[in-house]
Amino acid sequence: RKLKTEPIHNFKAVLLGEGCVGKTSLVLRYMEDKFNSQNLSTLQASFVSKIIIMPDQRQALLNIWDTAGQERFHALGPIYYRGSDGALLVYDITDHNSFLKVKLWVRELKEMLGNDICLIIVGNKIDLDEQRVVDYDVAFEYAQSVGARYLETSAKNNEGVTELFELLTQLILEQQ
Ligand code: GDP
Ligand code: MG
Repeated sequence: RKLKTEPIHNFKAVLLGEGCVGKTSLVLRYMEDKFNSQNLSTLQASFVSKIIIMPDQRQALLNIWDTAGQERFHALGPIYYRGSDGALLVYDITDHNSFLKVKLWVRELKEMLGNDICLIIVGNKIDLDEQRVVDYDVAFEYAQSVGARYLETSAKNNEGVTELFELLTQLILEQQ
């Protein structure tokens, strides 16, 4: 295959969700295959890029914007979302309030960016399934109702994480 002749698409995706749901942990797991049990919300590094090579050899440069904790104040302005091709809306399956927050972000994103943006709702921390308070079916049906995809992950146990970033890339590539 003449890989060098394949164009590399350059995409922007934002991570949204309440503090402590595991947004930074998902990025760290995917980018560096690491997990840190401490709270990472004060890390300043909020922009990471990775070349993703899909199973079918298509390539994309995915630029992921993570927050440096400003989500606590719901103070992420339009500069954060502007030009996004996709958004990952993350909640913690053991925290019902974090699921309600996802609904607020979905409304805000659709208002700001219209309906073209690829949305994936992510139920994280499935390693804590005994403490689950948001049913899979409830989240799945909500996602369908707003035209989003739904996936569950554990950044801790590395479940669903590669699938998540590959699905994001695939949805964005399909939309081009
Ligand atoms: P953020 O504020 O959304 O970026 O969340 P962080 O990535 O900083 O994670 C907040 C806390 O949740 C940290 O203590 C993480 O170790 C923990 N955490 C993140 N993902 C998981 C997970 O999949 N399972 C469990 N059990 N803990 C997680
Ligand atoms: Mg964070």
